[in-house]
Amino acid sequence: MMYDSIVIGAGIAGCTAARQLAEKGNRRVLVIEKRDHIGGNCYDKPDEFGILVHEYGPHIFHTDLEEVFCYLSRFTEWNLYENGHQVVANIEGRLIPIPFNLNTLHMVYEKELADTLEKKLIDAYGMGSRVPIMKLRENKDPQIQEIAQYVYENVFLKYTMKQWGQKPEEINPQVTGRVPVLISYDNRYFQDRYQGVPLNGFTPMFERMLDHENITVRTEIHAKELLSFNGHEIWYEGEKFEGDVIYTGELDELFDCQYGRLPYRSLRFDFEHLDQEDFQDGHSVVNYTVSEEFTRITEFKYLTGQKGAKGTTIVREYPFAYSGREGEIPYYAIMNPENEALYEKYKKLTAGIPNMHLLGRLAEYKYYNMDAMAAKALKLADKLIQSVTV
Ligand code: UDP
Repeated sequence: MMYDSIVIGAGIAGCTAARQLAEKGNRRVLVIEKRDHIGGNCYDKPDEFGILVHEYGPHIFHTDLEEVFCYLSRFTEWNLYENGHQVVANIEGRLIPIPFNLNTLHMVYEKELADTLEKKLIDAYGMGSRVPIMKLRENKDPQIQEIAQYVYENVFLKYTMKQWGQKPEEINPQVTGRVPVLISYDNRYFQDRYQGVPLNGFTPMFERMLDHENITVRTEIHAKELLSFNGHEIWYEGEKFEGDVIYTGELDELFDCQYGRLPYRSLRFDFEHLDQEDFQDGHSVVNYTVSEEFTRITEFKYLTGQKGAKGTTIVREYPFAYSGREGEIPYYAIMNPENEALYEKYKKLTAGIPNMHLLGRLAEYKYYNMDAMAAKALKLADKLIQSVTV
């Protein structure tokens, strides 16, 4: 056997796990990727106009995890955003900071009222706190209720309907909780210490991660072309494979969707190149929270910091329900008890396969950020390395 471990999928989960197994565990690792490129949904490349674009939607790296930042910094330099990643919502042509914060409050209400409301919010929750909209709505104070209603209607309702096809109260509260109301003057979208993008793009970072003598990468191959499952055994090209297999793809696909498809939300990306210097006045991301069929517009030059290119490229995101049709991509697991129960049924099918490990947004049916994913991949790789050496 030429390989000690097999990693299926070359996104951030797969690349990080593969590198750690190859380097720290000195394992010969085969990485199998079904697309014709590595990097998963973080993949970026210059478009025909020379502007670096994120093919699968805007990805901003942000973390408080020192060890993850240090680890990835071995493979890239960074364009760290001086003032953090900032997002605005376009509400009937007016741009207001998102998450809704005390600056937003003062833009929405006239001064005297805004001052009163600000004091109420600080008294109720404390300066610096983060309050999920669904929690804020539970507050009994009529004035706080009014703010909550404003934020619910103008920031969350329509955007969430577009993104999930459901109302905020119908989806997992953790999802809207990702963008809490901030009781502070902080206009940043994330509060993490490190925020930015790899200086030369995500793809070169992943290329360097996989550039190791113990790693072999095969693209444009479906896992099932090479691997098969025989009861509790994994077979690789006609032989029993006893090494670790890390799977980062959709779990239902691995088992021919025998219990039915796991539901996901997908996205259609409409890229447009404009023969003008600027489209959204320096804003990298503008959310459309009360109008339009798309959720947001990203203007890449402001996301990547690219200078000197002619014109500008933007992308609009149109969410829809994933159906599994050829060419569709599942981006977001729809986390609810019913779907999670279906996921658990599939997971049970892997329970008896001791060398099979599920990792990532798809394989775990979860909503991970990049940094959490890298942390989890390192942890899994370390556990696998240790379980052999002790
Ligand atoms: N959300 C919203 N309005 C906004 C931003 C976010 O309603 O302006 C809700 C929406 O339900 C979204 C969720 O908060 O799916 C999480 O937003 P996030 O920006 O984290 O989504 P991602 O960038 O991962 O697509």
